[in-house]
Amino acid sequence: MPEVSESCTAERPARVERMVRGMVALAAGSARHFSELDAEIGDGDHGNNFSRGVDAAAAAVDRRRPQTWTDFCLIAGDSWLDASGGASGALYGTLIRTMGDKMALGLSPTAAFGEAVEALARLGKAKVGDKTMLDVLVPVANALNEGSPMSQALALARHRLEQTRSLRARRGRASFLGERSVGHLDPGAASSCAALEVILMAVEFVDGT
Ligand code: ADP
Ligand code: MG
Repeated sequence: MPEVSESCTAERPARVERMVRGMVALAAGSARHFSELDAEIGDGDHGNNFSRGVDAAAAAVDRRRPQTWTDFCLIAGDSWLDASGGASGALYGTLIRTMGDKMALGLSPTAAFGEAVEALARLGKAKVGDKTMLDVLVPVANALNEGSPMSQALALARHRLEQTRSLRARRGRASFLGERSVGHLDPGAASSCAALEVILMAVEFVDGT
């Protein structure tokens, strides 16, 4: 995540709007895919949980028009926590909310993202290799904090998502399947990868438009 300026007022049309609309479009277009992945190794509701979080966060941001990235994350995180369900609702909501808390303490967005991913890992008592969203989020947070360019971070996200296919789930519902969880992508890793694509491209214009 780039070192964006604290004020997002002037950036709204180009960055905030692009990010919010991109996330709403992602949820609308990919919820079914995320739920299908979840149906293979979970209970089939991941897309629904993801959509509820995105839509609630977007509605709250549209209504309250936050003027800083900190407030943006606090509002989006709280509304995600209120509206979304499942394990991912609490985990994604905590991730976004913690980013706001950390930026309020003066951390850069990149550093705040790293600490928020650590908070998510503590909440879920999970680590890299457990076949969860952390398999995408942790390496990407590390890469960004080490100064990797966006394009590299996104390539890493896609690679780590693909690698979840060969992992055995050790956290969440998929862990109940044991060895039978091998051979399937993790749905939370899939939504994390897709969300990172939208967010990083919106904020940094990786696609050059
Ligand atoms: P639920 O499993 O409660 O139905 P979702 O289907 O919305 O919730 O989300 C499932 C995803 O949440 C998994 O694919 C995984 O990425 C993530 N997840 C589940 N449990 C944990 C955990 N303890 N730590 C980190 N991520 C987790
Ligand atoms: Mg589920």
